[in-house]
Amino acid sequence: MAVTPKPPRAGEFELIARYFAPLAAAAPEGLGLLDDAAVIAPRAGHELVVTSDALVAGVHFLPDDPPDLIARKALRVNLSDLAAKGAVPRWYLLDAVFPADLKEDWIAAFARGLRQDQDEFGIHLIGGDTASTPGPLTLAITAMGEVQAGKMLRRSSAHAGDDIYVSGTVGDGALGLLACQGKLAHLADTDRASLIARYRLPLPRVRLGPKLVGLATASLDVSDGVVADLGHICAMSHLAATIEEASVPLSDAGRAALAHAPDLIDGILGGGDDYEILFTAPPQAGPQLANVAGTSGVPLTKIGRMTAGEGVQIRAENGRFRRLAMGGWSHF
Ligand code: ADP
Ligand code: MG
Repeated sequence: MAVTPKPPRAGEFELIARYFAPLAAAAPEGLGLLDDAAVIAPRAGHELVVTSDALVAGVHFLPDDPPDLIARKALRVNLSDLAAKGAVPRWYLLDAVFPADLKEDWIAAFARGLRQDQDEFGIHLIGGDTASTPGPLTLAITAMGEVQAGKMLRRSSAHAGDDIYVSGTVGDGALGLLACQGKLAHLADTDRASLIARYRLPLPRVRLGPKLVGLATASLDVSDGVVADLGHICAMSHLAATIEEASVPLSDAGRAALAHAPDLIDGILGGGDDYEILFTAPPQAGPQLANVAGTSGVPLTKIGRMTAGEGVQIRAENGRFRRLAMGGWSHF
């Protein structure tokens, strides 16, 4: 039986050639986006770390958000996963499902955003798929990075007695969302703007992550809030954790928000897309970690300790403990 070939989608090929092929020009592995597939190999003695994230208009971003910011956020959430695993970013695939009536200007601006962050973080497009839909704009990025064989940082390998560290500052994502919703009106405009910027465009710790290989015992990136994500390390490592509330690093804007409304602390610890790296390390790694903070330019703050048991508890400055339970915080 004769098979009728699908009519070529001229628009699709032209979009790929015009906007995506230039993003693949510097990576020979992508074959100029002219073949059916890319072909990759990690450097000798290394493994590939692979991660993927999908973003849907109306769910993960608003349809009228700036296209370059959407592109950069889509790339950055993947870069954050690679960093937390200790991997150096190399390549990514992009599946772009565009509404049929999407303007070409949108795609041009989207590609400019990808270009900007490719250049900043040293990652290259090597393939993907382009399709159209009657539904919402949908994007999926699959990113790949390299790590020394056997050294990928996992969630499951923390030890009792390890210190718990977090990079940068905590809570800006959660507070930025509140600011976007018109809350935190008492804050200075500059503080509100810096929180909103942090929420809209995460800062993946790409240069820090690979430096933690050999020092961190367990690691992940904070995408659900420090308490929930530390809970993942606890569950996978069969341990408990205590966070010292007074040690949690806040930005100037975060401190200003908290000074006015101390109750915000539970939102800062309990939710939010910080995209910082949360990791554990033995106490004797402290001096080396101080060096890493210096050379990577990212502050590292010790916020607590891993112990036998299960779950995450928080010790307030007054010595009282509390826990984030289903439906809220329980104090004890
Ligand atoms: P096939 O039909 O064989 O799956 P396509 O025609 O979909 O191939 O894609 C042709 C080439 O363009 C492939 O190398 C594919 O990886 C690449 N490509 C398609 N869409 C994208 C995209 N959105 N971003 C990057 N590369 C893409
Ligand atoms: Mg295809």
